[in-house]
Amino acid sequence: MLIEIINCNDFDDNNKIIAINNLLSCARQGKHLILADKNFYREILKSNNFGTIEKMVANKLLENIREFRDISKILSLKVLVDFSSIEEPINSCFEGYNIINLSYKYFMDTSSIELSNILCEDSLDYEMYKIIGRYYKFKKNTNLNIDFKVIHGGGTRIKREFENSKSSNSLCLCLLDNDKKHPMSPKGGTICLFSEEDFKLKKTVKALDIEVHEVESLIPIEILDEIIGEYEPVTRKSHLLLIKLLTREERVKFYLDHKKGLKVNDVFCFDQNGMFWTPLIKSITSNFCLTSGRCNCTDPCTIIIGYGNNLLEKTLPYLQKKSSNKIEENLKYLKSYWDSIGSELLNWGCCYDKIRC
Ligand SMILES: [Zn+2]
Repeated sequence: MLIEIINCNDFDDNNKIIAINNLLSCARQGKHLILADKNFYREILKSNNFGTIEKMVANKLLENIREFRDISKILSLKVLVDFSSIEEPINSCFEGYNIINLSYKYFMDTSSIELSNILCEDSLDYEMYKIIGRYYKFKKNTNLNIDFKVIHGGGTRIKREFENSKSSNSLCLCLLDNDKKHPMSPKGGTICLFSEEDFKLKKTVKALDIEVHEVESLIPIEILDEIIGEYEPVTRKSHLLLIKLLTREERVKFYLDHKKGLKVNDVFCFDQNGMFWTPLIKSITSNFCLTSGRCNCTDPCTIIIGYGNNLLEKTLPYLQKKSSNKIEENLKYLKSYWDSIGSELLNWGCCYDKIRC
């Protein structure tokens, strides 16, 4: 994250020296992007309270001030470390930035100089977010890096981990899918454990609704085209049906359960929220159960056959091999979703190259 140091005039106070050393060490290890004014670094270079390594880091950061100021313009979130404050974390907004205001005391603890945390369901989800981050960096043409410490929050554990991060004042971005099966249906799954307030920046944490049913919704259809050869003919046929559906209604991608697929009875069940699936499905296919409005078959009729539980595992290698440029061509209606997630990943996870001393 972008960490900007302000109001540091005292370079003899032991506690402040500890905090400065930790912040410099954080920059040296490339864990956050550290920004301060020229005077701050010049005082460190003059002072006898700092070691050779700290001075080398300060010197390097002094040289980079202009570059860091420039690259930080693409961000909209920062930590402001106020050396004149001893207050608890508070949030504010200024000049287009959402700000996490922290006292220097926060940085007296070495745990404060770790990477920002990302909280998501499992490690495969994070691999997908890494691809989105790489794409967003490409799009913004920046040499910032994105890196996180990953916390897994499978099932209901995710809310507990989120609360832990909040109470321990750890920097944490939590990504949640919304499990919606229909444009008008309520959100489902673990996102329901989160309150409206959790989706705003609160102290050092924020939850983000990725606004789609599941991470798999973010996989471009062209990538599914590439893996479909691995499936049975019946699934390949169903895949063609999905392509046809998408040409009529792109939002299908946001509400479909890619792993489990869609059964005739799902169509009627989900549409209790209002008409969405029924007219769409009826416009591309027909069978007795669809016409009669109910499926009582022992083997329930299926419209879209799911791609299985290991869909993400199968598609990630394809996405990882693809250039961000090529991925961008495939995004189309997914673009705004990738962009808003990418922008948060850059805000929370941005860091810079390690400094060699
Ligand atoms: Zn049936």
